[in-house]
Amino acid sequence: MKNSLTGDGKPLHIPQPIRSDGAGGPDLGPRDILRDIENPDMLVPPTTDAGLMPNMKMSFSDTHMVLNHGGWSREITVRDLPIATTLAGVNMSLTPGGVRELHWHQQAEWAYMLWGGARITAMDQNGRNFIADVGPGDLWYFPAGLPHSIQGLDEGCEFLLVFDDGSFSDLNTLSISDWFAHTPKEVLSANFGVPASAFDSIPKEQVYIFQDGIPGPLASDEVQSPNGTVPNSFKYSLLAQPPIKTSGGSVRIVDSINFPASKTIAAALVEIEPGGMRELHWHPNNDEWQYYLTGQGRMTVFAGNGTARTFDYRAGDVGYVPFANGHYIQNTGNCTLWFLEIFRSDRFEDVSLNQWMALTPKHLVERNLHVGPTVIDALRKEESPVVKYPGFTYYPK
Ligand code: MN
Ligand code: MN
Repeated sequence: MKNSLTGDGKPLHIPQPIRSDGAGGPDLGPRDILRDIENPDMLVPPTTDAGLMPNMKMSFSDTHMVLNHGGWSREITVRDLPIATTLAGVNMSLTPGGVRELHWHQQAEWAYMLWGGARITAMDQNGRNFIADVGPGDLWYFPAGLPHSIQGLDEGCEFLLVFDDGSFSDLNTLSISDWFAHTPKEVLSANFGVPASAFDSIPKEQVYIFQDGIPGPLASDEVQSPNGTVPNSFKYSLLAQPPIKTSGGSVRIVDSINFPASKTIAAALVEIEPGGMRELHWHPNNDEWQYYLTGQGRMTVFAGNGTARTFDYRAGDVGYVPFANGHYIQNTGNCTLWFLEIFRSDRFEDVSLNQWMALTPKHLVERNLHVGPTVIDALRKEESPVVKYPGFTYYPK
């Protein structure tokens, strides 16, 4: 008989809040077993975890879906994850031909295409336009205040949007249909120099997302501007960038150095192989907002004063790390973990614990930590963002 919870015929392993040394005891009361299974490091924290720490995990699966003909969206903002004040995220899907309507907002928009393809359009303050197709692993960046649109291509698409303000909401943007609906017809008539009757059929309220036909080839949507196109492309192909390969995975960094349009958001696309770990590090510029793309992992955040806490993540989850807090991320699954580290900054910056120790007089490190040559001689003067130690096993529960 199949188990109704796992569906694979195997009996469900019910985890208990009991550590391998016997600390804790069984939870025999009301409980959400599936949530406990998803959060093994909350149920049985590593013994090194301690102290007060705000929540640093939120799943898009725990958010409200907005369903429209043409697609859907859901968001994680400071209302959902209070620690996340610097950035907000939206997960959106558009059907083939589905359109996120012409709109703009006070925040800059950075995006990562998860699957499928979209046609994006925009115009800058000098009347220079931008029309391009984006596919999996491509980014776009629309500076704050500039108008734009997104439309799903042949197979539709799904993408992650990140805005440089944690209090942003995609349900609170400035939309072309909304403005038309709240402007007198005679004003529209005067503005466009056409009879008011030309606006008899305009939408009565904000459209947000609508279903349209699948767009033709990019050339068929070309619009020549007398002012030319935007000087810095709003598109960047992140997956096409050769990665920095290290012993446990790879990293691709994108910020205003290689994607000049992206002046307020910097990111790293990180791959961690099974058994690998994003090394102990922190960021000297701003908080880190994370989106988990594939696999599963756990992150421990160190906030000083004896405080550390571990959170479990899987594809579709968002993580957060306050400015300068130490952290590392372990792949706890048997397939590759991919995630994005995103920052409200023009530059990606990090500080490697290992590199810092390697570039500090040996005696200081030895006397400070009571370690010997085994540690000192293994330190690396070059950063290795994702590491893998052959004998490594996860902390026993
Ligand atoms: Mn937008
Ligand atoms: Mn980091």
